[in-house]
Amino acid sequence: MTSKRIPLVAGNWKMNFDHLEATYFIQQFAWKLRAIHFDHKRCEIALMPSFTSLRSVQVAIESDNLKIRYGAQAVSVTSQGAFTGDVSADMIAHLGCSYVIVGHSERRKYHPEDDANIVDQVRAVLAAGMQPILCVGESYEERRKGIELDFAVGQVRDVTCDLSDEEAAKLIVAYEPVWAIGTGMVATPQSAQDAAKAIRNDLSATFGTEVGETVRILYGGSVSSKNAVELIREPDVDGFLIGGAALKVDELTRICKLTMEATS
Ligand code: PEP
Repeated sequence: MTSKRIPLVAGNWKMNFDHLEATYFIQQFAWKLRAIHFDHKRCEIALMPSFTSLRSVQVAIESDNLKIRYGAQAVSVTSQGAFTGDVSADMIAHLGCSYVIVGHSERRKYHPEDDANIVDQVRAVLAAGMQPILCVGESYEERRKGIELDFAVGQVRDVTCDLSDEEAAKLIVAYEPVWAIGTGMVATPQSAQDAAKAIRNDLSATFGTEVGETVRILYGGSVSSKNAVELIREPDVDGFLIGGAALKVDELTRICKLTMEATS
């Protein structure tokens, strides 16, 4: 990545860890980061627990004044009312969250989250003063057809077309090829770079270079301490959205350390 942007390592815990496990993880993680003299100014870390753990994560982080950020994995598009089971952006923001993952492929697959819904989630997150981590990326089928770059750029464009420059600058994009998520198959550094560059170029064309150069573009899909360095060395890859490896405290600590060192 370029030194203009601070790298972000974001752990998506998905439906793992209850609130006690989440608290225990944070305590171990904080201790390990301190032991390696981790510098949060050189690399940002965020964790995305399930809704039921957000309060405990907030307490664990705030009580020790830790520099770890956190957020939610999805959000309701409405602000309040008769929407059983939904959680609003304001409720999430009131727990001190910085980020919300929007449009993860598992949400697109298992829930009725179409483009229109994803646009509304992004708007809800921005209106509540948080940053959306917008997930995009092709399936194996699109890659086979050779349309992966157009596909990922198109997914970003679908969401950003009605945003102002100021709103677009707050976006974080996670390029996550669906075939790489949870499979152990990681994109090559070159193909992660190609996708990140294509997305950045399109943002620059729409909103100007300043916005294009501000937005952080993460790579996600089977990231581990074995492949993180090569990926983060690519100029347009600004960090990671991590699933499985974010559930192992030693492995996540290693990835954070490698990212910080490789980009400093
Ligand atoms: C994810 O779910 O966003 C993800 C990238 O998962 P994994 O790291 O396990 O591939």
